[in-house]
Amino acid sequence: MMAQYQKVKDQYPDAFLFYRLGDFYELFNDDAIKGSQLLELTLTTRNHSSANPIPMCGVPHRAVENYVDILIDKGYKVAICEQMEDPKKAKGMVKRAVTRLITPGTKMDLKGDAAQSNNYLTAVLPVENGFKLAYADLSTGELKVTTLANQGAVLNELINLQTKEIVYEQALPADLVATLNKRNLLLSKQTTQEPQAEIAYLTQELTDAGEKQVVTLLVSYLLTTQKRALAHMQIAQSYELNSYMEIDHNSKANLELMVNMRSGKRQGTLAWLLDATKTAMGSRLLKRWLDRPLINLDEITERQDKVAVLLDHYFERSNLQEELTKVYDLERLAGRVAYGSVNGRDLIQLKTSLNQVPKIKYVLETLEAPVFDQMLAKLDPLADVATLIDQAIVEDAPVSVTDGGVIKVGYNDQLDTYRDAMNNGKEWIAQLQKKEREATGINNLKIGYNHVFGYYIEVTKANIAKLPADRYERKQTLVNAERFSTPELKEKEAIIMEAQEKSTSMEYDLFVAVRDKVKAQIGRLQKLAASLAELDVLQSFAVVSEDYHFVRPKLNQGHELKIKAGRHPVVEKFLGHQEYVPNDVVMDPNTEILLITGPNMSGKSTYMRQLALIAVMAQVGCFVPADSALLPIFDQIFTRIGAADDLVSGESTFMVEMMEANNALQHATPNSLILFDEIGRGTATYDGMALAQAIIEYVHDHVHAKTLFSTHYHELTTLDQRLTQLKNVHVGASEENGELVFLHRVEAGPADKSYGIHVAKLAGLPDSLLKRADTILTKLEGKKATVPTPVSATPEPKLVTEASGQMDLFDPTPTNKPSNTKANRVLKQLKDLDLMGMTPMEVMNQVYQWQRKL
Ligand code: ADP
Repeated sequence: MMAQYQKVKDQYPDAFLFYRLGDFYELFNDDAIKGSQLLELTLTTRNHSSANPIPMCGVPHRAVENYVDILIDKGYKVAICEQMEDPKKAKGMVKRAVTRLITPGTKMDLKGDAAQSNNYLTAVLPVENGFKLAYADLSTGELKVTTLANQGAVLNELINLQTKEIVYEQALPADLVATLNKRNLLLSKQTTQEPQAEIAYLTQELTDAGEKQVVTLLVSYLLTTQKRALAHMQIAQSYELNSYMEIDHNSKANLELMVNMRSGKRQGTLAWLLDATKTAMGSRLLKRWLDRPLINLDEITERQDKVAVLLDHYFERSNLQEELTKVYDLERLAGRVAYGSVNGRDLIQLKTSLNQVPKIKYVLETLEAPVFDQMLAKLDPLADVATLIDQAIVEDAPVSVTDGGVIKVGYNDQLDTYRDAMNNGKEWIAQLQKKEREATGINNLKIGYNHVFGYYIEVTKANIAKLPADRYERKQTLVNAERFSTPELKEKEAIIMEAQEKSTSMEYDLFVAVRDKVKAQIGRLQKLAASLAELDVLQSFAVVSEDYHFVRPKLNQGHELKIKAGRHPVVEKFLGHQEYVPNDVVMDPNTEILLITGPNMSGKSTYMRQLALIAVMAQVGCFVPADSALLPIFDQIFTRIGAADDLVSGESTFMVEMMEANNALQHATPNSLILFDEIGRGTATYDGMALAQAIIEYVHDHVHAKTLFSTHYHELTTLDQRLTQLKNVHVGASEENGELVFLHRVEAGPADKSYGIHVAKLAGLPDSLLKRADTILTKLEGKKATVPTPVSATPEPKLVTEASGQMDLFDPTPTNKPSNTKANRVLKQLKDLDLMGMTPMEVMNQVYQWQRKL
């Protein structure tokens, strides 16, 4: 047996081999040592008396799924090796073979939270000028492929898809592999190509040779690991990233679209807030939509129109929700049908779901909204399938499909005959007990059944003497009783057993036939699933739009942006509608940059994120948190928010900051949205401020994207005098009794004061320290008054009117250049000026004089 084991194991060196032995799956050798630790199993040995006992551990076959799940979740592969013949009938060694290789990217049975997420397996193929990437979700049959320009785009897409496993054939670039390894992604090499018709079928709509090749690679891997036909895989669709709004994975993380940055969970994300879906399919589709917001105005409008209708019809919407609640996960049921792993219960779930469709259609029809016409046409109730299941499968079907009790009475005459024979026999036996009691006068005589001995008559030892000797044949002796049979009983037993055997095996055949008939309709089933999922997301948008007071945004192809009383939906949800201070964002076609100043914690980054979330919500077709909203359609969103170190790549905060800034500057278009939060904070003051200013100027002069730029470099607020497309806004705060009060209200113009020490006070820093900071501040301010640095309360106009972007803005040391002496003289005069003794006109004249001097 160990020789057989080793032969199989050699073919799957990188997987845990679960080797079926009777009622257990056993692991041996290194698999057993490692497996016993990971699965908390007792490690034993085989042949323990020999010199080299073999380490071994095992799991009961009924519980195998749980153990497999643990290993897969930890990123390992598991090969399931089954007995291919009945051990009782086998001559010599029982034949065994691996029936399935389960890997993180090909896991089918997803429970709990995982049911609401897709599980993508990806294949990557380097080509001459870029990469081809394909991905599939084996549990739903989704199959997509694209072409990507560079490694960064590949990594971005892999992270976006949250893929756990990547299939490759030709070596991937070493640094990409290193990054993937750091992220704990499993790389699986696939060398053989499966030349099946299946691949030709799945790639039929692809025109690009490289895309065909990468899909072939992916499907080959699926076929080799799953070892069966995959009837539910959908024909591969090619997509282009720029047909959707692009958001790189860092920005997605920053904006917390899917994952909460602190907890790593779904709660507190946009996906979580918008999810009032009633089905797992809907929940997954919502995530896919959020992952790829639309850029086509017509498509967006169509979704909005549908949401608007549903929003207006509260009663019908409630009905829809009620019906959708009874719809099971059709996408994954379709997968299991294809897989041949559905049982009677699954089919009943399928029937229940299908039975909802006519009701859902009816409700949609009563809306009398033409925008739902197409969807109505697509909602096929698969009545033939529902009827078939209804006729064939019992309502409370058992889990097992091989033990009978699945097929309804009346579905098949032959089956009914077997069942009658079986039931008559059972009835006869039930009568027998009474008859035998009467005949023998033994009142506690019992008829029973067990698997080994079949039917028996049990008589306690005390009563044995009362039995007539000739008719009773001894079968088994127990401590207090004897068990017997009679020729009559044997005869009936044989009839019952035969009928039972025939009936269960016939039931299984009938079940498989039903399953195959359903399988032939998988394509229709998947189309229905897609439409129901879409309807579910749309009703979800309507629900949240009503619950959270969202409004329908107006989208334009131009560059105008006007949000009245906008809110950050997630922050608002946690704070409450009353507590949240709504804010306008107004950028006419000529305003490209809003420079946001204000104390820490006043709400700058919330304001920026608010805009990005509103844009994403608008472009997935949802309504938005505002009183009104006019928005351009953004092609991309870039963010540089937060200061988290990229632990994975080991880059420093500042390096990451600069890389993200660079990404935005290189790739943003005039149709993009950029959020830069406190750029430059990660380095020395002047260095940081210089970079911040240069970045703003670059965006202003070369990029022209709508940009929100928050900064604590108050000095930058004077840039508006020179940069015509830049406007200052600030988040207000006021002081009450020496304490800082945040108003969270965004107003025009720059902030006028730095509140750092007050924030420190709010944070509870020691009094003595705060006093000391006050003293230092006063000293510094005193110094500023004597040194003509631009970091003063009234910066030199020259510095911001100069287009050169020279470092002089930041140069704190006075030089002896003539111009500087002149400036000093002007400053001295300014300081000595008796403002109260002058008329406004005199001041104007004086300023005019100074300007000429400078
Ligand atoms: P900043 O970026 O200026 O440091 P944040 O945007 O992080 O400030 O906001 C700090 C806190 O202030 C947030 O956690 C939130 O609770 C609160 N806040 C921000 N904006 C608002 C608002 N518009 N209304 C009410 N509270 C807000």
